[in-house]
Amino acid sequence: MNKKEISESIAAVSNYLYEKGLVPGKSGNISCKFSENGVKKVAITPSGVSLKSVTPEEIVIVDMDGNKIDEVMNQNNKRDKMPSSEVFMHLKVYKNRNDVKSVVHTHSPIATGFAFAGVEIKRLEGFGPIENTVIPLVDYAAPGTMDLAENVAKGMEKEDIVSLKNHGIVACGENLDEAALLTEFVEESAKIQFVTSLISAN
Ligand SMILES: [Zn+2]
Repeated sequence: MNKKEISESIAAVSNYLYEKGLVPGKSGNISCKFSENGVKKVAITPSGVSLKSVTPEEIVIVDMDGNKIDEVMNQNNKRDKMPSSEVFMHLKVYKNRNDVKSVVHTHSPIATGFAFAGVEIKRLEGFGPIENTVIPLVDYAAPGTMDLAENVAKGMEKEDIVSLKNHGIVACGENLDEAALLTEFVEESAKIQFVTSLISAN
């Protein structure tokens, strides 16, 4: 896929995840790694824009150090968007995992509730091969910091999905659909675990 097609996919998945309630308000960010003329680049959602309405033209292209290279030029020739404030979290995951081509970060309410409570979410069927029976919790660091980027990258060395204490969820995959699907699965798992705990309590 070229960067135009990638930007279109990122915008479509952004809008979809918002509709699903997984990235409320201006939360969440999505990226894809790709190669252009042999140079590795990352396309990522912009900061300060709700994924509800983000368009392909607003997707920002950065190099592997997070420097903005380009936006896909919009019709008004505007290039005013900056990459998501979590860009370094995405880049660190790509640097650690050569197999990863997409990273999706959500604040889905039930899974994030578990993250705030410090309770691990159990994996349900659908996650594929299981090494851990629970989704690992990554230590808290302030959003947008290198500390958070380091913690997440370390937590994802052997995991495709982690829960960030007091924050949200990060998933990765070989492609965008795979990573996005994992964020849906984790919310579903958290929901079922929550309902199960209520029923079992009586
Ligand atoms: Zn976040």
